[in-house]
Amino acid sequence: MSTYRTLLEMLLALRRLRHQESWTRPQIEAHQRAALAKLRFHAYAHSPFYQKFHAGLTDQPLGELPILTKSMLHDHFGEIITDPSVDLTTTTDHVQALRGAERFLDKYIVNTTSGTTGNSSYILYDRAEWATVLASFSRYERHIGSIRGMVRRPKMAIVGSSAPWHMSARVETTVRSGVLPILRLDVGDPIDSIVQKLNAWQPQILATYASMAGILADEQASGRLQITPKRIVCSAEVLSSALRQRVEMVWGNIAFNQFGASEGGTFAVECDAPYRLSNGVEGQSRGLHLFEDLFIFEVVDHQNRPVPPGHYGDKVLLTVLFNHTQPLIRYELSDRVRMATMPCSCGCAFALIDDVQGREEEVLHFPSRSGGTIAVHPMVFYRILDATSISSWQVVQDGSILRLRLTGDAHTIQEQRIVNIVQSTLKQQNIVCPAIVVEWVSEAERGLTGKVARILSTRKNPVL
Ligand SMILES: [Zn+2]
Repeated sequence: MSTYRTLLEMLLALRRLRHQESWTRPQIEAHQRAALAKLRFHAYAHSPFYQKFHAGLTDQPLGELPILTKSMLHDHFGEIITDPSVDLTTTTDHVQALRGAERFLDKYIVNTTSGTTGNSSYILYDRAEWATVLASFSRYERHIGSIRGMVRRPKMAIVGSSAPWHMSARVETTVRSGVLPILRLDVGDPIDSIVQKLNAWQPQILATYASMAGILADEQASGRLQITPKRIVCSAEVLSSALRQRVEMVWGNIAFNQFGASEGGTFAVECDAPYRLSNGVEGQSRGLHLFEDLFIFEVVDHQNRPVPPGHYGDKVLLTVLFNHTQPLIRYELSDRVRMATMPCSCGCAFALIDDVQGREEEVLHFPSRSGGTIAVHPMVFYRILDATSISSWQVVQDGSILRLRLTGDAHTIQEQRIVNIVQSTLKQQNIVCPAIVVEWVSEAERGLTGKVARILSTRKNPVL
């Protein structure tokens, strides 16, 4: 019963979103101004955190407001939420007991934020807000077309995080109705096992991280993986042109990008139409339509100064217009985004993201015990190291040595335990385990943009 109610709410939300996609620029901008004013009014009335954080600034424009970081979201969780009956302890208890589609306090769907900074937190959505999140996941069909006409009840495989509190799992369990047959695999599983299960399942839709799509394309090219999907959906990270080429070499032009995070659902989806460059030449690549009816995106440099279209920012400041339960106003996301200088040729007035830099450079390759090499997805290291109490970390593959560069209090963690976990995880993947060296550093090495690269290989980054 509750699944059907959720589906109905999602379909109604989707209808509303579809209508909004025909808006003109002035309509989009008027909606953003009104929705932002409503969000701020609600936050100032009901969130003890924003009452202090924006004190004296409530009449200032968005660009004058302070930045909300991941660690603030974590440290002030209970005060940011606009419902006084929610606190960190009870939310954590709920998440730890989570098995399926349960709602917290019979009302909220709880998601976790990705733990890439070690400060993961929760994001809550009430019924209407969650319906909007679900609808945002289905919004791509307007831009890239549906495959339902080609395939009835397409079989889907998701290679992602299998944790029940992860957003993709929450989406699946809250709308699970037997309508779509889904195989869920964990990205951290040994690649041999993922390949074997995909071969047995033969998915028509494959949804995964972009970097994992690259690993699977290599498996297909080697002949170990033998699947013929009709569509590959890359989410969480974005498919770069180099990765897209690898995927297209084996499966043809079937991959597309969906960009989002648990902080808001889907932010943008790829559009089928090529866009014109500022010199009037038709672009080779395709852009992603940013859902400006749901979000305000500010592309900024590392000092939070606006970066114009055509240039990569160091991060994005995200304002989620539809979440009043847990207002996110100028929330810092570490994605490097470049906005297009020209609108899309399809006629949709939503701004176009030209590119988002992915994580494929973080895929490390190790020698296999049975010959050849094995690719290891970055999530494997994020999962192990983010679960410790160290403040920052970096994994550097330096020839046959794997260096774990850690920052923080050396006494808070057991060094040998971490080494053992990394070692046993790599061994499970049938890898000839490298020598692992722990190095304590005062600060992680930063790239030119000031951003810490978490996973590096000296082969790919010879300057190191
Ligand atoms: Zn378009």
